[in-house]
Amino acid sequence: MSTSLLYHSFGIRGYRQTRIEPTGGVTRFHVHPNEKSICCSSCQSSNVIKRGVTQREFRCSPIGLKQTVIVGTLPRLQCRDCGVVRQIKVGFADARRSYTKNWANYALQLTRSMTIKDVADLLGVTWDVIKEIKKNDLRRRFANPSLKDVRWIAIDEICIGKGHRYVTLVMNLDSGAIIFVGDGKSAESLVPFWKRLGRRRHRIEAVAMDMSSAYISAVRGNLPKADIVFDRFHVAKLMNEKLTTLRRQLYQEATADEKSVLKGSRWLLLKNPENLSEDRDEEAHLAAALQLNEPLATGYYLKEELRLFWGHTFRWPAQLFLRSWCRRATATGLSPLKTMAKTLTRLEEGLLSYFKHRISSGPMEGTNNKIKTLQRQSYGIRDREYFELLLYSLHQKKYALVG
Ligand SMILES: [Zn+2]
Repeated sequence: MSTSLLYHSFGIRGYRQTRIEPTGGVTRFHVHPNEKSICCSSCQSSNVIKRGVTQREFRCSPIGLKQTVIVGTLPRLQCRDCGVVRQIKVGFADARRSYTKNWANYALQLTRSMTIKDVADLLGVTWDVIKEIKKNDLRRRFANPSLKDVRWIAIDEICIGKGHRYVTLVMNLDSGAIIFVGDGKSAESLVPFWKRLGRRRHRIEAVAMDMSSAYISAVRGNLPKADIVFDRFHVAKLMNEKLTTLRRQLYQEATADEKSVLKGSRWLLLKNPENLSEDRDEEAHLAAALQLNEPLATGYYLKEELRLFWGHTFRWPAQLFLRSWCRRATATGLSPLKTMAKTLTRLEEGLLSYFKHRISSGPMEGTNNKIKTLQRQSYGIRDREYFELLLYSLHQKKYALVG
C-alpha cells in the first residue's frame, strides 16, 4: 500500500508501509515513520538520537470484511536540545489509545444509527471502548450547555433506573435542550444551577412546572423576576383524579342496579368527549351513567368546562372564568370538587401567568418519554457523566434513542 493510500484510507501521514501480514481475519500493516518527520515530541526539534524502538498496534477501519491493524515501529528519541527521552508522538492516534483517530471516527458514525453494543460486536471490541468514544464526542459537543440566552425554562424531576433515584432537570423551552441535571428532587438539587446562572438569573422570565412541585419556593427565592406558570396538563390530570375519587364515592353509595351502569364508566368520564368511540357505544354508556347520577354529571361537566379556561386570549376574562368555576365547584358541596376549587384558588396566580407567557411543561413531558426509552436501551446510565451528556444531547435527533 502506498503512502498516499495510508493517508487516504487510514488518515496516517508521515509513515511508510514496509510489510503487509494477512493472518486469519486480520490484516496487519507494518509502518515506520519517515526519517524527515522524526522529531522530539516535546520541543519538535529534529536534533535527536534514536534510543531503541517499540512496536505498538492500532485498530483501523476494516477493509471489506477484514479487520485491519497498523503495527507501528516507533523509535524512542533523546533530544539534544531539550534533553527529554520519549517515544515519538503518534499523530494518527490519541495518547494511550490503541486505535487510530480514523477508526474512532468510523465507530462514532456507526453509533448514530446502532446501539453501542451492536457497534462493539461488529468491530470486535468491548462495550466500554465504544462508550468512551461516544462519551468523548458528547463531551466535546455538549458539556456545559450555554445559559446565555435562556429566558423560559421548565423544571421537573424524573426517576432513574429501578432504584428510585431521582434527578432534577431544567429545560430551555426555546431550544428544547436540557440545560441542567441535578441530583435528587428537592430544592437543594437546583443549587448548582443557580450558581451557574449567576447574574443571568435576572433574565429568566418564566418557569413552567408541576403544581405540586417541590421547587416553587426555590424558584421564588432565586429567580426574582420570573413568573411561575403551572402546567395545563397537570391541571387536567389533577381534575381527572378528583373525578375518579368522586365516582368511587358515589359507587359505594349506589344500589346494585346503579352499580351495573356505573361500572366501566371510569375511563369514559376521563376521556375527552371527542375521543369517545362510536363503535363501542361509549357515548350511550356515558350518557346512561350521567343521567342516573346527578352529582357525577355535575363533576363531569365541570371537568369539561375547566378545559375551556386555556382557550382564553386575555388574562382578565380567564380570571373571571376561573373564579366562577371555583364558586360553582364549591357550591356543589361534593368534597373532591371543593378540594379542586381550593387548590385552583390557591394557585390562581400561577395559572393566570399562562396567558402572559403561553408556556407549558409539554416539551419536558416529551423529553421524559425519550429518557424512559433511553433508559431501557442504554446500559450507560450508571456512568453519571455519560448519562448527563446524553440528556444534554437529547434535543439533537441523531443522538436520540440510541444507547
Ligand atoms: Zn526536545
